[in-house]
Amino acid sequence: LLSGCSSERGGSSTEETAGTSESGGGFAADATIGVALPQKTSENWVLAEQLFVDGLTEAGFNPIVQFANSGVTEQQNQIQAMTEQGASVIVVGAIDGSQLGSQLEAAADSGASVIAYDRLVKNTDAVDMYVAFDNFQVGVLQGEALLQGLAERKGEGPYNIELIAGSPDDANSTPFFEGAMSVLQPKIDDGTLVVVSGQTSFEQVATQGWKAENAQRRMDTILSGSYGSAELHGVLSPNDTLGRAALTSVAQAGKDTPVVTGQDSEVESVKSIVAGEQYSTIYKDTRELVAQTIKEIQALQKGEEPEINDTESYDNGVKVVPSFLLTPLIVTQENAAEVYADDETLFPLTQE
Ligand code: BGC
Repeated sequence: LLSGCSSERGGSSTEETAGTSESGGGFAADATIGVALPQKTSENWVLAEQLFVDGLTEAGFNPIVQFANSGVTEQQNQIQAMTEQGASVIVVGAIDGSQLGSQLEAAADSGASVIAYDRLVKNTDAVDMYVAFDNFQVGVLQGEALLQGLAERKGEGPYNIELIAGSPDDANSTPFFEGAMSVLQPKIDDGTLVVVSGQTSFEQVATQGWKAENAQRRMDTILSGSYGSAELHGVLSPNDTLGRAALTSVAQAGKDTPVVTGQDSEVESVKSIVAGEQYSTIYKDTRELVAQTIKEIQALQKGEEPEINDTESYDNGVKVVPSFLLTPLIVTQENAAEVYADDETLFPLTQE
């Protein structure tokens, strides 16, 4: 598998790793590890920061963990600086998955391994592996939850719904949307679901920068322009931040609470689900994702093969990136306590 990861690039990290493995390790046990995180567009990223700092330090590495709050250029500069500081592995949660090619190629040429974290890096062969929750499956679960919530809370169809997608520069936004539409499109086609605004393409429903205000503004416009006195029964939202924006917009328009999906199990949304407002979220345990990523780094450090469980799903435009995919879980009021049983932050919210 390791050779499967290596590309035509002469100085690619994987070959370097393979070359040094005879001497007992891929790189020093106290190596510098760079972690380039995007903007704080949802709580999962904030959680990841501390987990990486603590987990990598505990594993004996020297972590450099950075957010790029001002955008793509800052992230490019951070990755370049990590390479210059001799990082043996660079973990990337890309802001824009298509804008890091030259920085990651320079990193790979320096001998660093590159791990795409949560978000795929596109259009470059300078990415050795991808560690994430199965994004398409996240979308499928959201689509199923919307249908289930409509049946539970809104009586017989047809149902008026609206669709929201994530930021177009985030490689995850398309699989989330396509997964959801794989469930919803047949119901739109047979008339069970009516998208009253008529906005059904990814381009029409995407939310630049994953920003709540952008989703809320779009919902405000749709409600005032297309709904009149009609009820909005459901909203497909790709994450909790945007789901809460949709709920706010509908409340301000004076309409009944629609069935709204989400993702990330953010504290405010878990409270809302327990209170019977937001219908669903997705649990992608950040502790698990960071732990898996650190496990992969430790394997690379020892010169061992990284753990891969998917070699076909994530084509980045240049190659299929070998992946380790974790399983996302759907959460509703009904199963929240069960799903969060081992989460010391979220479980108590289900007991209030
Ligand atoms: C993550 C989601 C998150 C979104 C916005 C995506 O790439 O997979 O969990 O809601 O970014 O931060």
